[in-house]
Amino acid sequence: MARPQAKAARPAPRRAPRYIYAFGAGRTDGRAKMKDLLGGKGANLAEMSRLGLPVPPGFTISTEVCTHYYAHGRAYPAGLRAHVAEALRRVEKALGRRFGDAARPLLVSVRSGARASMPGMMDTILNLGLNDATVEGLIRESGNPRFAYDSYRRFVQMYGDVVLGLKPESKDEEDPFEVALQEKKRQRGVTLDTELDAEALRELVGEFKALIKMRKDVVFPEDPQEQLWGAIGAVFGSWMNDRAITYRKINGIPETWGTAVNVQAMVFGNMGADSGTGVAFTRDPASGENVFYGEFLMNAQGEDVVAGTRTPLPIAALEAENPTAYGQLVKVRRTLEQHYREMMDIEFTIQQGELFMLQCRVGKRTAFAAIRIAVDMVRERLISTDDALRRVEPDQLNQLLRPIFDVAATRKAFEEKRLVARGLNAGPGAATGRVVFNADDAITRAKSGEPVILVRIETSPEDIGGMNAAQGILTARGGMTSHAALVARQMGKVCVAGCEALVIDYRGRRMRIADRPEIVREGDFISLDGTTGDVYRGEIPTTASEVVRVLVDRTLTPEQAPVYRLYAQLMKWADKVRRLRVRANADQADQCANAIAFGAEGVGLCRTEHMFFGEGKIEPMREMILAESVAERRAALAKLLPLQRADFEGIFRVMQGRPVTVRTLDPPLHEFLPHDEAGQREVAAGLRVPFERVRERVQALHEFNPMLGFRGCRLGLVHPEITEMQARAIFEAAANVRQAGVAVEPEVMIPLVGHVKELAMQADIVRHVAEDVMREKGVRFRYLIGTMIEIPRGALTADEIAGVAEFFSFGTNDLTQTTLGVSRDDAGRFLVPYVSEFEIYERDPFQTIDRDGVGSLMRVAAERGRGVKPKMKLGICGEHGGDPASVEFCHQLGLDYVSCSPFRVPIARLAAARAALRA
Ligand code: PEP
Ligand code: MG
Repeated sequence: MARPQAKAARPAPRRAPRYIYAFGAGRTDGRAKMKDLLGGKGANLAEMSRLGLPVPPGFTISTEVCTHYYAHGRAYPAGLRAHVAEALRRVEKALGRRFGDAARPLLVSVRSGARASMPGMMDTILNLGLNDATVEGLIRESGNPRFAYDSYRRFVQMYGDVVLGLKPESKDEEDPFEVALQEKKRQRGVTLDTELDAEALRELVGEFKALIKMRKDVVFPEDPQEQLWGAIGAVFGSWMNDRAITYRKINGIPETWGTAVNVQAMVFGNMGADSGTGVAFTRDPASGENVFYGEFLMNAQGEDVVAGTRTPLPIAALEAENPTAYGQLVKVRRTLEQHYREMMDIEFTIQQGELFMLQCRVGKRTAFAAIRIAVDMVRERLISTDDALRRVEPDQLNQLLRPIFDVAATRKAFEEKRLVARGLNAGPGAATGRVVFNADDAITRAKSGEPVILVRIETSPEDIGGMNAAQGILTARGGMTSHAALVARQMGKVCVAGCEALVIDYRGRRMRIADRPEIVREGDFISLDGTTGDVYRGEIPTTASEVVRVLVDRTLTPEQAPVYRLYAQLMKWADKVRRLRVRANADQADQCANAIAFGAEGVGLCRTEHMFFGEGKIEPMREMILAESVAERRAALAKLLPLQRADFEGIFRVMQGRPVTVRTLDPPLHEFLPHDEAGQREVAAGLRVPFERVRERVQALHEFNPMLGFRGCRLGLVHPEITEMQARAIFEAAANVRQAGVAVEPEVMIPLVGHVKELAMQADIVRHVAEDVMREKGVRFRYLIGTMIEIPRGALTADEIAGVAEFFSFGTNDLTQTTLGVSRDDAGRFLVPYVSEFEIYERDPFQTIDRDGVGSLMRVAAERGRGVKPKMKLGICGEHGGDPASVEFCHQLGLDYVSCSPFRVPIARLAAARAALRA
């Protein structure tokens, strides 16, 4: 059959540009799905009128007009005025009123409405169409001069502010309209706005207009058409006001989206005792409870509810006040929830007993509410389990897993100007405690039962004990993957890192905060919000996480913990759909136990170096480092062997046959030695060697660029006996645990491999030790040898490396550092403006994988590795393994697992599920 070539070749007919979309009173052009064109408000007004809800008629001028407006030097498209006039005529006809008519005037509201909600950022004008003639009509119709003049003076005030620009000109100036209003109340001897009578309000209208003339040298327009176009222009103009620009920047809203303008017939909540206005949520946005939640005010206009000058009543009280309107509203609530299958946020007005809907949108909610609503709606058969997973942002789980500050106490601290600094939000949660400046003091004070916050310029492995004892950790330097940050997350500690404003004086045991007068001394209370990076002076009470009390502390049973039960349900659904496995970065048995409680399926990274700081281990470690011959080194290593073996046995026992990836020694050796003289003398005395020898060795180990220096597999290549000892400790532990009847699955991982020969040489040692141990112990067990892919050469030659490696694990901390050429420990200094100001990276690349750069190398490595070994196990153990956007990327790359700190395991599980749903 001949194909209709001619037809296919014809260009698609161009959609005639359409600028106006009507809603209400029997004709609705838009729908909820058209947010791009109509903005959120316009789309939902259209949807509500389609649902037959009482929406005052009006029309939406589309976002395309806004785009056109800015693309053409603030000019409207041709024909817009005629279209607006036509749309207005339809509203006039529907209501039997006319715009500007002195007898039955049509009044309208003009509001902005962007695709994404930008609360309070842009402008709104109510009661438009009032002038000295139409106000008389309003008086006659309502029989209420006070109402009419109140509406009029509000209109002149809003219009004067928004369109004509009469605003306070400095921070110290009060709103000129408010000053006039106060003066009027003073003259009349009243205190409330509502006590001003019609005459006073009429006078105010005149005074407001005079004020505009005097201050702005413009005459307030009496012509409603002029008013309307002034307002439309102001709303489009507000898209580019400073507030809106800042908000868009913070929330990642593109400038090109533009705003729509909604013009809608006014209804009045201030028409007397049988009128009112309110806002509500279809469920409680704080707890998620399935109750109608909101407030209203009788005889009031929208802004009164928000302004807080009168105290609104809870929505339930409307039942007594106006049972008919309440009944209607309850029905609306049900209709909206059934239709949107979401918790909605609504605005309504009651005009002389009749209910009108002015807005609805998906309601903002806390993490607790998000989970509760999602789970409840599945049970109510409103949504599927997949929908429930889509509705909870993985990072919201932090709110459930971490201690949080008491909200009222935090607000108070803020008002008292106790928020003194802000750093990187490196370890979420809230912590409050007394300041200490070194690890030993942290341990001592914590032992006596005091909560402490460890404050350091930066931390090193030496500080582990103190970090463990502290409630929270605060550092002046370092980025999101600095030592402090990653160790804190692994321990589940609250951490604010890279807080550059701190000027710490270790000797004086105090710190200053740049640009602030007060000094914080040892023993003073401070509070850290690791979720926001905020640092407060003084104490702020915290609330413990229910989920952690059930899973980790075991101080609650699931039956006692409703929030835990919701969490557990959601996690169960997540586990069903995710393809990625989730492991944890953990180096101690207790961390492993936490990880399992949070649902980890293995250990993706055990950093053995952290073990060397445990009880009795640092001395032989230092002896090993100070050794001058292989024999001496072997002697020291022999002391370390049983200690490491015991650690591994503990881990293998807890992990019960789940895979455990153990990495051989990685950090530069100088990290294990003290850098001050006192410390070095102590080491010398302890090891019974001359102080000079210790000092010389520390000097010899000094490196200009330790991160690119003698570390990673280079250590094991130059000193093979270290790898030998570590491999023996791993395998002997495996054999012992295996013999005790517990399954084991060790995976030995070689760090910082850039050349296949590095891996081959290390793998050779490991394999020999494995054979020896199996023979000696008379057991056989499976094990794997693999490598980290964490420097670009390793990624680029992954095909060669895959010839030796049985698995790859992406070390994206180092891979980011080496690909970007940005030191992970110094990034805190300059990377913040890189993201927030210069917009070079969309997000901190140490937090979210830089897909174009680091991500490309990962893709190359994955493809080349699997090109050689199609079933090669691939994972990630950099901090990105717990970041939702990065987890999604790992899913797309086809990795087998992600590994992250134990407290992020639930977040990764949910992120993995959502990635699978999106794929
Ligand atoms: C990494 O580099 O991503 C990694 C996991 O190793 P470390 O953070 O210990 O260098
Ligand atoms: Mg690394």
